[in-house]
Amino acid sequence: KFITIEGMDGAGKSTQIQFMKRYLEDKGYKVLITREPGGTIIGEKTRAVILDNKHKEMDSRTEALLYAASRAQHVSQIIIPALQRGEVVLCDRYVDSSMVYQGKGRDLGYKPIKMINDFATQGLEPDLTVLLDIDPTLSLQRIIARGEGDRLEGEKIQFHVAVHNAYMDLAKMYPNRIKVVNANGKIEDIRIEVEKLLKNIFKG
Ligand code: C5P
Repeated sequence: KFITIEGMDGAGKSTQIQFMKRYLEDKGYKVLITREPGGTIIGEKTRAVILDNKHKEMDSRTEALLYAASRAQHVSQIIIPALQRGEVVLCDRYVDSSMVYQGKGRDLGYKPIKMINDFATQGLEPDLTVLLDIDPTLSLQRIIARGEGDRLEGEKIQFHVAVHNAYMDLAKMYPNRIKVVNANGKIEDIRIEVEKLLKNIFKG
């Protein structure tokens, strides 16, 4: 099974993904946690170009294609082989992040982002996407509280609201795959909700 976790910075993705891993390992599954570029040399180099130019002179189409290129390498070199070995793959951000950040955030539209990513991923879609839904004001506060405010690079509340709305658009577009979990509350409560979703996918 291929499971992705999505949500804005500060939504608690990295905490919950570790809980998910432990839950599934306790059930006897072999689990791979990964995130783009996933340690592939080509993916790392591609990512370095993106980060080097973030929000500066890079054309948004270039950015979208580079994210897709990094993803293509990650999918073919890491994700597909792990799935073929029978492992459960938990991926921190995937195509939905590009839909949100490049499609909406950079105004390219969902359609072209979907198209280039269908190509990049060989059409590999998650069996389940856990969308941690946090109030954009709260996510902004959490990013600043953990001392990562500098990476906001001028991303203002409006940007966070736009990203939030885009995630909600996606949840409506793909209701069978994307499951929204309210992530405003306690870590433990969120974990229980996420485990319910895993239970549904791994039954039988
Ligand atoms: O994965 P992480 O939470 O570290 O992502 C950090 C930031 O990278 C996001 O908030 C977003 O600004 C940017 N990003 C992006 N496009 C993607 C994935 C991430 O712009 N496809």
